[in-house]
Amino acid sequence: MEKDILFLKPVFKSVIWGGTRLRDDFGYDIPSDTTGECWAVSAHPHGDCEVAEGEYKGRTLSDLWKNEPALFGKASAGSFPLLVKIIDAKQDLSIQVHPNDEYAAKNENGSFGKTECWYVLDADPGATIVIGHNAGTREEMIDMIDNKRWKEFIREIPVKKGDFFQIEPGTLHAIKGGTLILETQQSSDITYRVYDYDRLSNGKPRELHLEKSKDVITCPFVPGNPESAEPYEVGFVGFGKYKRLVKCKYYSVYSVEFNGRGSFGGSYPFLLASVVEGEGIIAGHPVKKGMHFIVPAKFGTFDVDGNMKLIVSHI
Ligand code: ZN
Repeated sequence: MEKDILFLKPVFKSVIWGGTRLRDDFGYDIPSDTTGECWAVSAHPHGDCEVAEGEYKGRTLSDLWKNEPALFGKASAGSFPLLVKIIDAKQDLSIQVHPNDEYAAKNENGSFGKTECWYVLDADPGATIVIGHNAGTREEMIDMIDNKRWKEFIREIPVKKGDFFQIEPGTLHAIKGGTLILETQQSSDITYRVYDYDRLSNGKPRELHLEKSKDVITCPFVPGNPESAEPYEVGFVGFGKYKRLVKCKYYSVYSVEFNGRGSFGGSYPFLLASVVEGEGIIAGHPVKKGMHFIVPAKFGTFDVDGNMKLIVSHI
């Protein structure tokens, strides 16, 4: 029997750099005025989303992944592979880097590495983001880190609504204050912190991971092409449009706009979707900005009606 769409309940995280936009812009019931992350589609042990309604109501995504493989087609092995978050950076996040699968497997108890990508939902005028660094050689990189030459080291660029960035493992990066982002990533929490602006958290600086960072930072940094904004591909589905933002080894991510009524979907193991603007009806379910769902395997094409924008991904 065909399974219905799975709507998920997000998990929220309070962090020193967080704000209130997850409440103000998305209407979520957030736990504090420094809520920085909404784990919207996640089966990670640090934030495992529950199904909000229907046949599987109250069960976690990790449980379904393990025990209801038919929902996910042939993909169901190991751990659920992706994690989708909305990030409200009121203040700057620390400057960090992630390892690749090989380094994480060897040095982090067999964990996944982390490739991630950012769709910029909103950014204050003049907002910036950190992607990459300016060291020409490994020696120079190590000298810049050891001697805290942060201004020279860190590559900071302007950011605006609608920009898109793919962050490969080994890329120095940081979301800066005044930016709201939807992140699609490998389901991993392995982060090496390089620089935290000398801030204190509960009276102490947060731990840095300088030696591991030096091991994994790619040098020299080579900007992606295109690095942001422009779509890799544009398609029309008759009543809207979609852009493929990235296709890599771990995921493909699309921005999809619906304006009117039609059908959408196709062949994929399963789809993750987040409504980031507007409202409408998807396969008979009313949906609006801030809702996140999984279209299960073999669901095929489905009816859509409304004016809305979604970020959609699949493995
Ligand atoms: Zn990251």
